[in-house]
Parts: sequence; C-alpha cells; structure tokens
Amino acid sequence: MRIPDISLLVPVLGLWSCTAQRPTAEDAEALAARELVTQNVNATLYQNASAEVAWLYEQGYAYARLKLDAQLAVPDSLPPAVIVDVDETVLDNSPYELENILAGRGYSPETWKAWTARAEAQALPGALDFLTYAASRHCSVFYITNRDADEKGATIANLARLGFPMADSAHVRTMEGTSDKTARRDSVRRTHRVVLLVGDQLTDYDQVLKDRSSGLGLPELRKRSADLSEHFILLPNSTYGYWRDGITGKGSAVEKRDRVRSFIQQRVH
Ligand SMILES: [Mg+2]
Repeated sequence: MRIPDISLLVPVLGLWSCTAQRPTAEDAEALAARELVTQNVNATLYQNASAEVAWLYEQGYAYARLKLDAQLAVPDSLPPAVIVDVDETVLDNSPYELENILAGRGYSPETWKAWTARAEAQALPGALDFLTYAASRHCSVFYITNRDADEKGATIANLARLGFPMADSAHVRTMEGTSDKTARRDSVRRTHRVVLLVGDQLTDYDQVLKDRSSGLGLPELRKRSADLSEHFILLPNSTYGYWRDGITGKGSAVEKRDRVRSFIQQRVH
C-alpha cells in the first residue's frame, strides 16, 4: 500500500493537536478539506510529471490527425472546423494544482482566476502540432472553454503566446451563463461542418455524458460509442472532472470526503 507523503499530513495532524479533545465542526471540515487535497496528490503528479500522460496526449493528437485526414476526405458544402476544449486539452494547468497542494487548499474560483490571469500555462504535448496542421488543411479551429468571459483576454494571450492558430476573440468561446457547451457547439455548426472534437471531458463531446448517476455513466457512453469513435478524441485528466464530481457530489468537505469513503467501500464489496 502506498502511503502519502507525511509532510502533507503534518498540517492535518496539527489540527488535532491544537484543538480540545472533541474537534469542532469547523475542525472537522478543515480536516476533511485537507484529506481531499491529499487525495489529489498522486493524480496531480501523474498528470504533471508522468511520461505516461505525456504520451497519452501525443497518442491522442496523433489519432486526431488520422481522424481529421479521414473526415477531410469527405466533401461537404460547409467549411470544416475542429472544436477543442482548452483546459487539460491544449493548456496544462497542473502547475496550478501543484500550487494548491503546496498551499494545502483545493480549487477556488479566486485562485483559479489568479492563475489564468498569469497566462503562462504551457501547451500540452501534441496540441500545437495538431492544431497547426488542422489550420494548414484550411480547417477552422474553435476553442470552446468553460473559462469565464472575464478570463477571455488572458486565455487568448496565453494561446497566442504559444503560437496556437486562430487564438482570437471570434474563435475562443468562453462560458455564456452555463457550463453546457451545446449552444456554443451548435453556433459553430451553423456555419461549419464540425469534423472533430477534442477534450478531456466526455461533455466536450455531448452534455448528456455529464450524468454519472447510472452505472458511472458507462451505459450512456456505450450508446454513443460509434459517434464518439468517429468524431471525438478524449485526453486524460486524472485531477478533476465530472468523473470525480459524480463520486464526491456537492456540499461540504466532510460530505465529499465521506462519499469518497463510502464509494470505495462499495467498490471493494
Ligand atoms: Mg478541459
């Protein structure tokens, strides 16, 4: 059994030692929040530092190129387009996750926006080559992201600094009141034939795949396997996503921590 780095547990243990014999509800919440942070350590290291994930991205984008070539061989009256997600699809935010771990905190909109405002995320392996190739094949590139509208300028600056094609206001589509990307995808489809979508979440292909309440979402996934195989490339994200939200649910850190524990117990028995 792997044991988490003890230095990450010191603040957790400190919480116990600094309190009276019975921890308060605030102590319990802080303790659970720390436990959730610690749970993310290996996932973040895998995402940030493994040759395996680097190769999964390279492999995914190499497959994307094959799919793109096959789709572009089919004539159509509309001009072709590729839709890509941004976070954990073309930009690597794992340094933000590592910063959170060092600070002993989880995601928050404030720290996230401070990170995206820096516009210094690096490109994920294979992303730049693939999208440069797509543009060279006269294929439009649309970046449909659930970053907020107030992050749009920094996102465009980040993509442009890295040399991504069509990194401009018309092609970068930030969130418009909902994380559901369907309307934004449909707006692209009104003027283009969308030949391929690339993302790290299944919802980057179809919003119906957000729901994990039945069979972890696998039955819905399998219903759409033919379409997915034809038009979607899924990239790895071990650190966050609907796959994890489906386990933790919403609510307090204590509730999320307890749901993770009971989920693991269910998977064992
Ligand atoms: Mg993403």
